[in-house]
Amino acid sequence: MKQGSRTFAVFGNPVAHSLSPLMIGGAFREMKIDASYRAFRVEAARDIPLKMEELDMSGASITIPHKTAVMPYLDTISDSAARIGAVNTITRVNGSLGGDNTDWTGLVRPLKEALGIRGKRFAVLGAGGAARAAVYGIFNEGGTPLIVNRTAQRGEAVAREFGCDFLPLEEAGRITADCLINTTPVGMFPHMDETPVGADLLERVPWVMDTVYNPLQTKLLKDAAGAGCRTIAGIAMFVHQGAEQIRIWTGMEPPTSLMDRIVREKLSDDTD
Ligand code: NAP
Repeated sequence: MKQGSRTFAVFGNPVAHSLSPLMIGGAFREMKIDASYRAFRVEAARDIPLKMEELDMSGASITIPHKTAVMPYLDTISDSAARIGAVNTITRVNGSLGGDNTDWTGLVRPLKEALGIRGKRFAVLGAGGAARAAVYGIFNEGGTPLIVNRTAQRGEAVAREFGCDFLPLEEAGRITADCLINTTPVGMFPHMDETPVGADLLERVPWVMDTVYNPLQTKLLKDAAGAGCRTIAGIAMFVHQGAEQIRIWTGMEPPTSLMDRIVREKLSDDTD
C-alpha cells in the first residue's frame, strides 16, 4: 500500500449530493486509514484520469454519467466490469488505472443474505447499467433473471446479450418470480409518489428489492410490504458496493454497519 496520506474521490455530474464522501470517509476514519475522500464534478470522462494523476489519487468511485464513458481511458478492466459494460471503481497503482464494478457485488450480497440466489427466478425492471449489473450478478450466483423494460428494443438487446428472457413492461402482470428488483430510477427523490409497477402484481411476488435508496422506503417498497412481500431496500446495495470498493483499495474489511448507519441517518435527516 502507498505510504502517507492517500487521496480518493467520487467523480460524477451532478455529484454534490453524493453520499459516498460521508459513507466512505466515515469508514476510513473508523478503520484508522490515513486517507481523504472528496466529490468532484467532471463534465467529460476523459478529465477523470487527468485529475487522478494531478492529485496523485489512489482510487476513485465513478457515478452517473461516466460509468461507461470512462472505460476507454483505463489501462485494465476486470472481467465483470467488461461484461457489465460499466466501471464504478478505479484503482491507481504506480500511475496505472484499473477499472472494476462493485455494483453487482453490492446487489448480490443482500439478495444472498435475504432469500438466496441459486435456483431462484428474478424479474429485473430496467435495462440500463444497474440492470446489467443485476443480470450479471444473478447469473454468476446461479439464479435466473428475466428482463422487464419499458423500451422493448433496449430490453431485448440486453436479454439477447446475456442470454435471458425479456418481457415488455406493459406485460409486467405476467411476471412470475421469487423476487422483483427495480433497477429503474422510478420512485427516486423528489418523485417519491411514483412506482414502476401496480400493487396487484406485488401480491404474487414473495420478495421485492428496490435499488433506489433515496428515499429509504420507496413507494414500491411500501406497496410491497402492504401486499405481504418481504423487502430489501436500496441502501443495502449502496453500502455493499461501497464496502467492496474499500476492500479493493485497502485489502481491509470495512465497517458495514457503521456505513449503513451513516447513510440511514443522513437520509432520515433529509426527510425531516
Ligand atoms: P440507466 O442506465 O439510465 O437505466 C435506467 C433504466 O430505467 C432504463 O432501462 C429505463 O428504461 C428505465 N426507466 C427510466 N425511467 C423509467 C420510467 N419512468 N418508467 C419505466 N422505466 C424507466 O440508469 P442506471 O445506471 O441503470 O441506474 C438506474 C437506477 O439504479 C438509479 O437511478 C439508482 O437509483 C439505481 N442504482 C442504485 C445503486 C445502489 O447502490 N443502490 C447503484 C446503481 C444504481 P428505457 O430503456 O425504456 O429508457
